[in-house]
Amino acid sequence: MSFYPEIEAQPPADIRRVQEQKLKELLQYTAQHSAFYQHLYRANNIDVSTIRTIEDLAQIPVTTKDDLYKFNKDFICVPPEQVIDYVTTSGTLGDPLTVVLTDKDLERLAYNEHISLSCAGGSRHDVYQLMTTIDRRFMAGMAYFLGIRRMGAGVVRVGNGMPEFQWDTIRRLQPSVAIAVPSFILRLIEFARQHGIDYKNASIKKIVCIGEPIRNEDFSLNTLGQRITEQWPVQLFSTYASTEMAAAFTECEAGRGGHHHPELIIAEFLDEANQPVKPGEPGELTVTTLGVEGMPLVRFKTGDICVAHHEPCACGRSTLRVSPILGRRQQMIKFKGTTLYPPALYNILNNAPYIKNYIVEVYTNEIGTDEILINIGATSPPHNFEKELKDHFRARLRVAPDIRLDTPENILARQMPEMSRKPITFIDRRHK
Ligand SMILES: [Zn+2]
Repeated sequence: MSFYPEIEAQPPADIRRVQEQKLKELLQYTAQHSAFYQHLYRANNIDVSTIRTIEDLAQIPVTTKDDLYKFNKDFICVPPEQVIDYVTTSGTLGDPLTVVLTDKDLERLAYNEHISLSCAGGSRHDVYQLMTTIDRRFMAGMAYFLGIRRMGAGVVRVGNGMPEFQWDTIRRLQPSVAIAVPSFILRLIEFARQHGIDYKNASIKKIVCIGEPIRNEDFSLNTLGQRITEQWPVQLFSTYASTEMAAAFTECEAGRGGHHHPELIIAEFLDEANQPVKPGEPGELTVTTLGVEGMPLVRFKTGDICVAHHEPCACGRSTLRVSPILGRRQQMIKFKGTTLYPPALYNILNNAPYIKNYIVEVYTNEIGTDEILINIGATSPPHNFEKELKDHFRARLRVAPDIRLDTPENILARQMPEMSRKPITFIDRRHK
């Protein structure tokens, strides 16, 4: 079987050779053009010409999201006339972070999505319905469009929300694949049921799921993934990406984690002391971008915790795969001796049909440890819901947080403050 690009099925030694060549180019480039990295290399007495292997890379200190935010302009390597597209992503201190892309970066982005969607079984014979926004300073929607165009497939840019408009498009244009936030798919199904739409026989057979995990750590479908596939016989593919890395980890048909594109990124998995984690242990994905011109990053800590899988995949690719994101490093909760991340709580809450919405709050209690309060929005929960819910938490996570009942309207109002692009489901009130 052959792959495009060929590197996907090459032996690890060949992949490494490609990466190390591109790494040398990146280090030279940042030493010449990036004010931030020039300063970092000087301050740490680093001569980039001596860094030749992926192991050598550990000599360079990591770059944090705080660095990006504080020195945003110093990361930009090109004059303004070379910038084509400006996007923003949320910073650490509230204000957004600006990321710039040159023409070459847009081609890299298109290539990334082309090979990612191919990995998810896509081809030029497909028609994609894009259920995500393409503007609003986002990178993702545009990246999908560019990738689909490069692949030669068809695309319908519907945008997010608007279930009626989505179903009208599906009926008229018969797309074969949707790209969507998985929780929105549940809304689509609900709308179809209420309006007598024969969604089970709709033209869409595959959904590329963005923004939210659809699998558990062992790759079985999580509550969200199960609720979709129980109702609608579609194949789900998870994809994980971020604006800073301008690349994606997308599942193949085997559904065993998102495949790495080694020609675009060097991936490391680090612990809190910035040391590599042991094989099989969760670590913070740390990326070095290869081939980026506008705003390249060296050892950027994404904040996302996942597990790396190195064994060859059933699909024939030899590239590493990443598990579903377990959570954000900053959102790690140490609750009654158990380490957990908010998505593990969401997974249980999503499983209770009477819960319409929720907000998870974490705060520091009087003895200085983490405490969790879950606000749930429900109109008529079962009389023993609190005990039942706590039992579910204990069974899955060994611990049970406090639960407070509220109306779905109140929760919704708190979830959607002005200027927010995504509903807020997690509030961190801990003392830092
Ligand atoms: Zn695979």
